[in-house]
Amino acid sequence: LFSLGIPITLGFIGVVGWYLGGLAMEPTKRSYEQLQRFTADASHELRAPVAAILSNAQVGLLAPENNAEQPRQRLENIVDISKTMSNLISNLLFLARHEGKLNPQDLQNCELVNMFKELATQYDSIAKTEELNFITDFPSPPINLKVDADLLRHAIKNLLDNAFKYTPQGGSVKLEIINQSRRVSIQVKDTGIGIPQENLPHIFERFYRVDTSRTRSSGGFGLGLAIVQQIIQAHDGQISVDSTVGEGTTFEITLFVKKLN
Ligand code: ADP
Repeated sequence: LFSLGIPITLGFIGVVGWYLGGLAMEPTKRSYEQLQRFTADASHELRAPVAAILSNAQVGLLAPENNAEQPRQRLENIVDISKTMSNLISNLLFLARHEGKLNPQDLQNCELVNMFKELATQYDSIAKTEELNFITDFPSPPINLKVDADLLRHAIKNLLDNAFKYTPQGGSVKLEIINQSRRVSIQVKDTGIGIPQENLPHIFERFYRVDTSRTRSSGGFGLGLAIVQQIIQAHDGQISVDSTVGEGTTFEITLFVKKLN
């Protein structure tokens, strides 16, 4: 428990420090309302698991000493809840660390087709277990772009993870690269549950979930797409979404060759 608790505490202090630090450095850019909302949302998300850890620990301490089973179950609960919290804090720290534009020294020459092929092999096996069709469509000539490869991979993984999460068995997920003359378009298309039109303008906001009961059961905090948008904006790229309830969702990332190379 200690080994989880310390990183969680340090992580939270780090995130709050980042926000306050950012506010002090760029008072005009980051509005007070944004900070207030972030603090309220993050505290709200962290309060429930902390309360659950506390009550599990307190009840565990009250259990009779000869009943070893009950405290063990409580400890297992605490470990599970702490892992979820740790995941939330990692996402928050990720957003904090990767804010703003990338420096030229962060960018490497990257061959996208190979990178995407490697990424796709990881999802082939997930698709088999989850009984989904995973289709890829990549051009054969290589595409060389200057990107932060780790960040771009992270963004595509978040989109693929969502596509898999929100597509029922038997459905399809397609990952496609379209190379136009001065731009590269990357599409993640699924035949899943879709997103209602009224929710679409908000899905890139931090902590935004379309249906909290639906996504809470799958462990989402509503940070995945905020991270994707931040990564793409850091590359001077664009991201858009198109969705129809019951038919599916397409996310499209556009990276511009001129701006990056
Ligand atoms: P979460 O961790 O909750 O999935 P995200 O930021 O990744 O958070 O996504 C925000 C919300 O957008 C999700 O809660 C989900 O309702 C919706 N969403 C994202 N991707 C898809 C998709 N491919 N199909 C349907 N809904 C999606």
